[in-house]
Amino acid sequence: MPRPRGTSAHGTITGYTWHKNNGEEPCEPCLLAKRDYSREAARSKKQQERAEAPRREAWQRACARLAERYPAEFREILMEEMRGVIQLPPDDDEGEAA
Ligand SMILES: [Zn+2]
Repeated sequence: MPRPRGTSAHGTITGYTWHKNNGEEPCEPCLLAKRDYSREAARSKKQQERAEAPRREAWQRACARLAERYPAEFREILMEEMRGVIQLPPDDDEGEAA
């Protein structure tokens, strides 16, 4: 029966993927490799989110300050952007419609 190229692929994410692509239950070493791979991916993602947090928070503070300084413009732009993202009730903007 065919195996991942050489048995050296067992115990790796490549081996795990090979098992799955061939409709097999992965062997124990491949399952362990997949578990480690997923843990590392989750850890890496968390680390990246932590690293990006100060930048994201600075952006949010800047947005908040702009919203305070230019409330009408901010609201208009926000509503424009929201239209593409969420379903807004028809014309509920406090009678400010032009
Ligand atoms: Zn395997």
